[in-house]
Amino acid sequence: CGIVGYIGDNQAAPILLDGLAKLEYRGYDSAGIAVFDGKEIKMEKVMGRLKVLEELTHGGATMEGTAGIGHTRWATHGCPSDTNAHPHFNKDHSIIVVHNGIIENYAKLKKVLEKKGYEFVSETDTEVLAHLLSEYYNGNPAETIQKVMQRVEGSYALGIMFLDHPNHIYAARKDSPLIVGASKEGNLIASDVPAILRYTRNVYYMENEELVCLSREHIRFYNIDGEPLEKTPVTIEWDI
Ligand code: GLU
Repeated sequence: CGIVGYIGDNQAAPILLDGLAKLEYRGYDSAGIAVFDGKEIKMEKVMGRLKVLEELTHGGATMEGTAGIGHTRWATHGCPSDTNAHPHFNKDHSIIVVHNGIIENYAKLKKVLEKKGYEFVSETDTEVLAHLLSEYYNGNPAETIQKVMQRVEGSYALGIMFLDHPNHIYAARKDSPLIVGASKEGNLIASDVPAILRYTRNVYYMENEELVCLSREHIRFYNIDGEPLEKTPVTIEWDI
């Protein structure tokens, strides 16, 4: 299972597919990507090998846009299927989430959300995150993600996009790995270094309960209470 995200000057989809391929060693049963095309967030997700997703998107060529997130899934809640593959999304597809890990209190959260009228389309624990983000959304993505982080129990590495913030991607983690890479042509997130080594050697390691907001020029870290964090990048000296 793995996560890759990119925002920058180049087409995102080929970078996401390439990054996910570098994470294949982690194992997975399905894969998906989401890309901003300037108007909406386009998504493709399928059960099976990455090759299937690559063929479906012509190596990413059918998904134009310079910001996106990608995922390989190792099913924990809900069988491997196209529907259960990530990304997951809220009702109007304005909030998109990829997740590695397990939301331990998802059943309780799902009940509360269903009572409020949220309809679930997948069997995953991850989908509660999309609807919970939607429920808490106040126009400020970082604040909203913090609230969700405070409410969920379990493990997560997350990549998140908000349709009304097309120049940013967001990520957070607890007990699942996530790193951030800074390059001249854009910024990246990934589960592990090999996914982004082709683009940069400047890497930030995220700690538990940290949140990051990436634009093509900036990387801003926050703790779960919204306080800005100063983090120092490390230079990766080794090769794949
Ligand atoms: N628990 C989530 C699911 O079953 C994420 C699994 C993963 O880490 O890939 O969809």
